[in-house]
Amino acid sequence: MEKTKGEVLEEKLFDNKKFGFEIVTEEETKNIMDFCEGYIDFLNNVKTEREAAKEVEQILIRNGFKEISSIDKLAAGDKIYYVNRKKAVFAAVVGSLAVTEGFNLIGAHIDSPRLDLKPNPLYEDSGMAFLKTHYYGGIKKYQWVNIPLSIHGVIAKANGDVIEVNIGEDEKDPVFTINDLLPHLSRRLEDRKADNAIEAEELNVLVGSIPFNDEKVNEKIKLNILKLLNEKYGITESDLASAELELVPALKARSLGFDSSMISAYGQDDRVCAYTSLEALLNVSNPSRTAVCILADKEEVGSMGNTGMCSRNFENFVFEILEKMGVNTPGMLEKVFCNSKMLSADVTGAYEPNFPSVFEKNNESYIGKGISVIKYTGSASKGGASDANAEYVGFIRGLFENNNISYQISEMGKIGVGGGGTIAYILADKGIDVIDCGVPVLAMHSPYEVTSKFDVYTAYKAYEAFYNN
Ligand code: MN
Ligand code: MN
Repeated sequence: MEKTKGEVLEEKLFDNKKFGFEIVTEEETKNIMDFCEGYIDFLNNVKTEREAAKEVEQILIRNGFKEISSIDKLAAGDKIYYVNRKKAVFAAVVGSLAVTEGFNLIGAHIDSPRLDLKPNPLYEDSGMAFLKTHYYGGIKKYQWVNIPLSIHGVIAKANGDVIEVNIGEDEKDPVFTINDLLPHLSRRLEDRKADNAIEAEELNVLVGSIPFNDEKVNEKIKLNILKLLNEKYGITESDLASAELELVPALKARSLGFDSSMISAYGQDDRVCAYTSLEALLNVSNPSRTAVCILADKEEVGSMGNTGMCSRNFENFVFEILEKMGVNTPGMLEKVFCNSKMLSADVTGAYEPNFPSVFEKNNESYIGKGISVIKYTGSASKGGASDANAEYVGFIRGLFENNNISYQISEMGKIGVGGGGTIAYILADKGIDVIDCGVPVLAMHSPYEVTSKFDVYTAYKAYEAFYNN
């Protein structure tokens, strides 16, 4: 039947973006599912920033990237990387255009919310041994009780030895957990608000209950735990003070739903953008503009410190590239930055129909509608927002439309309800054109975050298109 005038006009004028799985072909669906198998494996191998940095380095080496200090001269097409203190990675493919044309940068982060051990964590009480934790990043604390937890990280001894720890992922490993109170005795605590339903100082992890039987010893269970740790790692209680041990959900990344269209896993903020931007970089060869993938640490706590994006380490990396290309002159670094373009590849909170009151339906990202582009973050008054210029938003739209990339442009939540930030403003400070552009996530910052496989694959395609423009 012929379309009415109104229907024709509607098609031409309305912004009617479709859900991805409505428009994909059978072949594309297969590509999406295959790509996401690799992503699920990555999530299962990598649960901390250190593990991510280590795995990423191996992937880069397998794909012909060389550590930057091992090379004296750089030329177009060269592939290099730098690992910053085992927690952050920068990788680049050198372009053929003059560096004054600027670089194409994509920046994600590889740290995720979790529970860190305190420096003096181990104690015993009432026949049990516990570890005290200090949460890292914005978590809803009550979500972290009654789930299996694993311990990952390092113990650095005073003699310089660094011991890696990873307990709770292997099926044969024991796990750890934090106990909530039984409902039968919770009535008096029920006037607590959700925010402190579990207090930070109640996030104590149960780790043992067998005593070292010696009448002369007071803390027999604590002693037995230290004995086991000493046998396995050669450490004493003092060594725990110079450790970075992180409790994360001992849950496997899995396909979600009868149709397996989604992924549920810990740490998708922001390893989903880290993995997709890295995979996109691996496909780049001989680009015109130098393509750079940034995988930062410490985003979840404000990007401070020498592994966070605020550190000058990234500038040093770009400086070294310019030096080794033989094109560095005074002011060149600043000039390169001012002409560079960037996607701040970070996730956003997707619309959640269970909680409509905090969302403004016309300006949210929906899972399954493709990559989210966020012009500005910040909160109520746009305070703290890194606001991309309209011209740059237009450029990104053009890029995605020309490459058939499904995208949605949104905010996150009603004005004043909350807010968030990413690394975007830090790079914008250097004069780079930056926009936030990542995968929408349900139950963000929870132990089991949800994404759509369509969006994950679309992010990969979007980042590839950006690197190659
Ligand atoms: Mn993030
Ligand atoms: Mn986050």
